[in-house]
Amino acid sequence: MAQLRADFGEHVGMMSIGPAGEKRLVAASIQFGDQQGRPSRAAGRGGLGALMGSKGLKALVVDERGSAPHLPMADPEKFKAAARQWAKILVNHPVSGQALPTYGTAVLINIVNDAGALPTQNFRRGQFAAAADLSGEKMVELIKQRGGKTKKGCHPGCVIQCSQIYHDATGKYLTSGFEYESIWALGAHTTIRDLDCIAQLDRLCDDLGLDTIETGVALGVMMEGGLIPWGDGPAALDMVKKVASDDPWGLILGNGSAYVGQALGVARVPVVKRQGLPAYDPRAEKGIGLTYATSPMGGDHTAGYTVATNILGCGGKTDPLKKEGQIELSRNLQIATAVLDCTGICLFTAFAVLDNPEALPCIVDMINARYGLDLRADDIVALGQQVLQDERGFNRDAGFTPAHDRLPEFFKEKLAPHNVTWDFTDAEIDQVLKDI
Ligand code: SF4
Repeated sequence: MAQLRADFGEHVGMMSIGPAGEKRLVAASIQFGDQQGRPSRAAGRGGLGALMGSKGLKALVVDERGSAPHLPMADPEKFKAAARQWAKILVNHPVSGQALPTYGTAVLINIVNDAGALPTQNFRRGQFAAAADLSGEKMVELIKQRGGKTKKGCHPGCVIQCSQIYHDATGKYLTSGFEYESIWALGAHTTIRDLDCIAQLDRLCDDLGLDTIETGVALGVMMEGGLIPWGDGPAALDMVKKVASDDPWGLILGNGSAYVGQALGVARVPVVKRQGLPAYDPRAEKGIGLTYATSPMGGDHTAGYTVATNILGCGGKTDPLKKEGQIELSRNLQIATAVLDCTGICLFTAFAVLDNPEALPCIVDMINARYGLDLRADDIVALGQQVLQDERGFNRDAGFTPAHDRLPEFFKEKLAPHNVTWDFTDAEIDQVLKDI
């Protein structure tokens, strides 16, 4: 990206793949440059970097000079009024207005650990003894000591600003966009306890164009198979560096958790539809287990983030340890998320949307004012359902069946500290998206 910026100027926007995408590895991400031109944000999941690599497409550069100064608006005044109301809704909510800008998504480390749902050592336990050392609170303390930055937007218009710049112990830039999911996958999951080492791994993933969740989960499977010792940060760094080389283990790691499990003969591999599971244990956060199982994208938390209600209490309160209410919760949030994704609005607005009845009508007002439409809230809910129908239809044509909507067998083991198991029946799982 530094070369692209040198060639095209500091004003351009950039997205690019790295060696992982060029080699068409399934954990390859597409990286997006921040305002400083660093590859700090990622389209991480699903191997999109490999898709670009397969087309021989290395990077896209967007130069806005010469374009119209503003998007055409059917009703500019109505749009402005709705956008002002939208910004107020976001800044007045405790998650989007306080927790995320202050600590970033890493605020979740302590919260999810306290809930007993922080997957530790390849989903053996729900709490990590070193969680406080990896927490958002610790990260912010180090950022302040070392001269980094908190409360940073990944684009200039963001009113939440959950991103940050993390410096190393000498005060030099190390990484940015240092997310909860990355810290968990490269940290609690592998039992690496050193936040600076995790930041180096995060940076390496950004530079090589690798999904941090898939890479972290795959490193844990390598540890499970005895290839790397548990918690060995330097060994993990050496292994990730191999992705850019001709070393076969680099290729195996870059092809993700399921592939590593096959290579090493490991049975305990936390994947659904061959995608590594994210940072919530489905036994202690049962709703997210249903989302992992049924999302057409494979093991994915963003598709229906039940954690918002189960653990953060947004949009009501359900018990994350119990099955009651979880099928409806996962289904409704999968529909709502499909809608939000269609608008291009950041998912981190969802907490406020769940709690404020004026938020959804406000989104509809913005869409109507932009395009001169007359949509109602029901129309966009139908749009979300249509998206899920299309995705499920695609999967069916590709040979997926309900048998693929299942969690790995080892989730029948009890999980400490709540001693809970994954206890949804196949018939119950199949209810989640049945009538969509
Ligand atoms: S809230 Fe969303 S848009 Fe804003 S900085 Fe965070 S990820 Fe980026």
